[in-house]
Amino acid sequence: MYAPPVEAYGRYEPITLKNINRHPSYKRLPASLRQELEVAAQVLPFRTNAYVLDELIDWKKVPDDPIFQLVFPQREMLAKEDYRLVEAALRRGDAGALKTAVWRVRRKMNPHPAGQLTHNVPMLEGRKLHGLQHKYRETVLFFPAGGQTCHAFCTYCFRWAQFVGDRELKIESSRVEDLVAYLRLHPQVSDVLITGGDPLVMKAGLLARYLRPLLKVETLTSIRLGSKSLAYWPARYVSDPDSAELLNLFEEITAAGKRLAFMAHSSHPRELETPLAKQAVRNILSSGALIRTQAPLIRRVNDSAAVWAEKWRLEVGLGMTPYYMFVERDTGPKQYFDVPLARAQRIFADAYRQVSGLARTVRGPSMSAFPGKVRIVGVAEIGGEKVFVLEFLQARNPAWVGRPFFARYDAQASWLSELQPAFGAKRFFFEEG
Ligand SMILES: *Cc1c(COP(=O)(O)O)cnc(C)c1O
Repeated sequence: MYAPPVEAYGRYEPITLKNINRHPSYKRLPASLRQELEVAAQVLPFRTNAYVLDELIDWKKVPDDPIFQLVFPQREMLAKEDYRLVEAALRRGDAGALKTAVWRVRRKMNPHPAGQLTHNVPMLEGRKLHGLQHKYRETVLFFPAGGQTCHAFCTYCFRWAQFVGDRELKIESSRVEDLVAYLRLHPQVSDVLITGGDPLVMKAGLLARYLRPLLKVETLTSIRLGSKSLAYWPARYVSDPDSAELLNLFEEITAAGKRLAFMAHSSHPRELETPLAKQAVRNILSSGALIRTQAPLIRRVNDSAAVWAEKWRLEVGLGMTPYYMFVERDTGPKQYFDVPLARAQRIFADAYRQVSGLARTVRGPSMSAFPGKVRIVGVAEIGGEKVFVLEFLQARNPAWVGRPFFARYDAQASWLSELQPAFGAKRFFFEEG
């Protein structure tokens, strides 16, 4: 049933700074561009693979090609003085100085936004459960050890600190029994979101060790898998050695009465245009899983209404459900990718207007901020004041959802923390008490 009908792509092999120089298209890039990449990649994680390089990047359009921007660190992603600091240490070949410089720069880049390390860690019998996050009532996040890398890295990754080898900044767990115990004590949790990194970098057998114990938790309705693999390594569902085993595992979840939701990180329509990606979508759907799509809005990658409208149309055509458009988080090279909130809202609305109701399941643009997921509904003029109309799609306090609130209009603001309450108020309603 799952025999690969398209040309198999071969085995997954990561391409990193160590072997990128062997890639024929990369080798032809100007030396200056390659040197800049090498410097930026000391700070920001870099990893890709042959499928991404050969099937998704249009090398004639480099460096502006959106997928090139998505996977290759760029000089301008670092502040000028930081770039020079790292470049100088690299030139001198001084490993100690390089390490110190790299860490100084990384620490400035807000590696764990929205209180991820400190505020959402659940407890079990007085013990902190590292590798779990519980922020919104219905959904627990689980970060399996073994799923803390990806088939390729995104330059804008908001979990980039997971990949740079600092234990102290890492969130992961190998103890699914802790998760099960936690779920038994919290029957209000209907969803588990397995995330990372990317849990689909795990072999099917290892993933099964995490998923099977969850099937016996009656209060659990849905298991979600957060993944970029459909875009970065669709062979995972077509021609990998354990593809059939993996799809059988998906079927087993549905057969056990749980809804398997594949949360596909889908940044650009190009990712869905290859025959391999289309076949992967068909195979996942025929296992009984649902696919929902989400991505942040990123300058230079997908900051155009036409791109989003095409992406959503393509997704609906393939049987996927558009789910969220996010605002890029306040982490990593944020200034490089920034789209101001006002512009983000216009792009969302312009794209939304162009698609049929079947694609209007999508919500956004949404900021995953400390108090919750805040959607910029639109801009309005109320009593002579120009304001943003905002709402919580998810909130630390569930009572905050469904209550519009207002901020002073600011054409430059690109995050919740930069907004001021409208109408002369001192605080937003969720900041009181
Ligand atoms: C987005 C998110 C979820 C899931 O929210 P849904 O709206 O149900 O998709 C859960 N936990 C955290 C921390 C999140 O950011």
